[in-house]
Amino acid sequence: MSKPRAYSVKAFSTRDPKSPLMPDTISRREPTENDVQIAILYCGVCHSDLHFARNEWGFTQYPAVPGHEIVGRVTAVGNAVTKFKVGEVVGVGCLVDSCRTCPDCRSGLEQFCQEMTMTYGSSDKHLGGPTLGGYAQAIVVREEFVLRIPGNLNAAAAAPLLCAGITTYSPLRRWKVGPGQKVGVVGLGGLGHMAVKFARAFGAHVVLFTTSPGKTADALRLGAHEVVVSRDSAQMAAHAGSFDFILDTVSAQHDLNAYFHLLKRDGNLVLVGAPNEPLPVAAFPLIMRRRSFSGSLIGGLPETQEMLDFCGTHNITSDVEMIRMDQINDAYERMLKSDVKYRFVIDMASLG
Ligand code: NAP
Ligand code: ZN
Ligand code: ZN
Repeated sequence: MSKPRAYSVKAFSTRDPKSPLMPDTISRREPTENDVQIAILYCGVCHSDLHFARNEWGFTQYPAVPGHEIVGRVTAVGNAVTKFKVGEVVGVGCLVDSCRTCPDCRSGLEQFCQEMTMTYGSSDKHLGGPTLGGYAQAIVVREEFVLRIPGNLNAAAAAPLLCAGITTYSPLRRWKVGPGQKVGVVGLGGLGHMAVKFARAFGAHVVLFTTSPGKTADALRLGAHEVVVSRDSAQMAAHAGSFDFILDTVSAQHDLNAYFHLLKRDGNLVLVGAPNEPLPVAAFPLIMRRRSFSGSLIGGLPETQEMLDFCGTHNITSDVEMIRMDQINDAYERMLKSDVKYRFVIDMASLG
C-alpha cells in the first residue's frame, strides 16, 4: 500500500512524561476510499488521557496526542463510504481500526482484537509513528469505527459517551444489572457518574461510594439512591454482604478487599479503573462467598452504537464542564484532585 498524502492540523501534544501539553501541528492522512474525515467539535478528557500523557502505564510513544471522546462534523468521505455524509455529526471513541476478521472482530468485540488500533498510542498503519488522538482540529477514521450520534443529544455532552459511557454501559449490560438488584459504583468521576446514570436507567438500586463527601448531593441528583463515604468504616460495614454487583471506576491505589466484603454470595466486582500500581487482593473475602472479580475494557463497535442509541432514547448525556484547549494542563491537575464535575470537555473551536 502506498503512503497516502497527508495534511496538517493544529493539535496539543506532549513530548515526554513531565512536560505539559503544548500547541503542535500534526499530520492526518487525506481520506482514502473507506475513510471519514471529521472536523472535531468537542473532545472529552478521560483520566486515561492523563495516565497516557504522563506514561504512567509505561507504553507511551511520544509525541503523544491524547483524546478518545471525539464528536465532530463530517467534512469529507471516501468513495466507498456508505454510512456517513458530509455535514453529519458523528463520534469516534477509543478504537480507529482492527483486523476486522478475527473471532473477536467478527463478534463485535473489536476492543479485544490482537491487532486493534487505538485512537492514540497504537502504530499508525497509514502514516507510521503513533496514532494521534482527539486533542486536534480534525481526525480521519475508517467508516466502521465512526459512530452515529442521536440528533436529540447535545453534541458536547455526548462526547464522553464515547469512552466513559461505553466503558460503564458494557459491564452493566454484560452482568445484566437491572430491577431487584443492589448495585454499587465506586468513584464519582467521569466513568462513575455515567455508571450511576446507566445503573439507575436499568432499574437497579444504586449506591455510590465516594471519597468526596461534598459530592453527595450531586450523586443523588445523578441517580444514586444512597451515598456511602468509603473512608467511613461504619458506613461501609452497614452494607456488608448486600451487593449483587459493584463497578469500580477508581483511577488510583485503593483497597479492593473492602468492596469484596460488601458483595453477596456469588456477587461480582468488576474493575474498569486502571491504576498503574497492582491492587492487592486478599483470598478470604473472595473464597468465603464464591465472589468474583473481573475486568472490563471499553466496548465493541456494535455495543457502542447500541449505548448511543439507548442514550438518545432515554436522553442520557454526561454532565460536562467545558474548557478551552489551553486549559488542559489545569484540567489534569483538577482531575488528580477528584475535582471534576463530572467530565471536562474541550471546545475545539478554542484551538483556532
Ligand atoms: P476521574 O474522572 O478522574 O474519576 C476517578 C474517580 O475515582 C475520582 O473522581 C474519585 O471519585 C475516585 N478516586 C480518585 N482517586 C482515588 C483514590 N486514591 N482512592 C479512592 N478513590 C479515588 O477518572 P475517569 O476518567 O472516570 O477514569 C477512571 C479510571 O478508569 C482511570 O484509571 C481510567 O484510566 C480508567 N478507564 C478505564 C477504561 C476501561 O476500558 N477499562 C476506560 C476508560 C477509563 P470520588 O471523589 O467520588 O472518590
Ligand atoms: Zn477513556
Ligand atoms: Zn480482529
